[in-house]
Amino acid sequence: MQVQRVVLNSRPGKNGEPSPKNFRLERISLTPDLENGQVLVRTLYLSVDPYMRCRMNEDTGADYLTPWELCECVDGGGVGVVEASRCSALTDGDVVTSFNWPWQTHAVMIGDGLQKVDLQMVDGHLSYFLGAVGITGLTALLGVREKGHVTKGANQTMVVSGAAGACGSLAGQIGRLDGCVRVVGICGSDEKCKALVEDLGFSAAVNYRSEDISARLQDICPDGVDVYFDNVGGAVSEPVIEQMNKGGHVILCGQISQYNKDVPYPPPLSDKTQEILQSRSIMRERFMVLSYMSKAEAALFELSQLVKSAQIKVLETVVNGIENMGVAFCSMMRGGNIGKQIVKISD
Ligand code: NDP
Repeated sequence: MQVQRVVLNSRPGKNGEPSPKNFRLERISLTPDLENGQVLVRTLYLSVDPYMRCRMNEDTGADYLTPWELCECVDGGGVGVVEASRCSALTDGDVVTSFNWPWQTHAVMIGDGLQKVDLQMVDGHLSYFLGAVGITGLTALLGVREKGHVTKGANQTMVVSGAAGACGSLAGQIGRLDGCVRVVGICGSDEKCKALVEDLGFSAAVNYRSEDISARLQDICPDGVDVYFDNVGGAVSEPVIEQMNKGGHVILCGQISQYNKDVPYPPPLSDKTQEILQSRSIMRERFMVLSYMSKAEAALFELSQLVKSAQIKVLETVVNGIENMGVAFCSMMRGGNIGKQIVKISD
């Protein structure tokens, strides 16, 4: 059978912005003769995520991430349906997911490496397995719970950067549900600010591209900031930390503003910000969702309930077609998405 796949065409360089030209679409023929343990899957949805920027480098800088190889098929989070199986645990029609799904329209995969999913968890909305009821939701929920120290009745204010993105849009809603009295989002457009306040129930939103973050936060957060869910780092984060209260907590989730730069992770803070953290006893701890996978099953169940009962609203930006994987990835890296960026590959 003829299938399409996306391979890594070139690397942007550690200090370069990724471009769709770094990816190449190929047609190959796939022999669907299965060996024992293998399944043939049709890809339904693929995920594009910021960590993939590291995989474009020869050295990812992280021991848990392998680099994508030139001229080889790119992989990441995916959901698909089993079309033929020689794996006893899976049958035709099962919906499965994996963190290492090839960017390919059909693929032969090892059945044991796939996770069968329960469609009821997402009311049939299968792309949620890559977002709100998948690793993104886990990052938001467990990040807030493990590092946020949110306490009901404590009159806390939370600020979220990258707030209109996949993780940030969920983290802010979870912060509110867990008891923060004020949740403020920082993001890159007025349209995103409007969605945060009008659709997702954030108390207020700041457009970091057009507004003075410090001035706005002083205005919107009269009691200071207790919890900061940081997806972005750099020039957005320093003024937020400046507004933080004694004993506050920074959830160091990601630093996307620095991913196109050759800097270590986490990137160093200015002396002034370091001094603020120290003098105010603000905890700033790195959060890694993969370190909490023992809590994933219960957390996914909770996320599923929150989404199905509409206590959490899910936003997605969906583009169609495997030929748009590179475009979708680069767009997400520049802020083209509201909510989770998804690519739909087939019906
Ligand atoms: P998003 O859906 O949030 O997409 C990325 C967003 O980042 C863009 O939409 C853009 O929004 C924003 N952005 C890009 N460049 C900049 C910049 N220079 N300054 C400020 N904002 C910028 O992606 P995810 O939700 O998947 O990931 C969010 C963060 O969470 C990332 O840092 C990622 O690495 C991290 N992460 C961490 C995990 C962990 O275990 N610690 C697991 C998963 C994700 P805008 O328009 O607002 O600029």
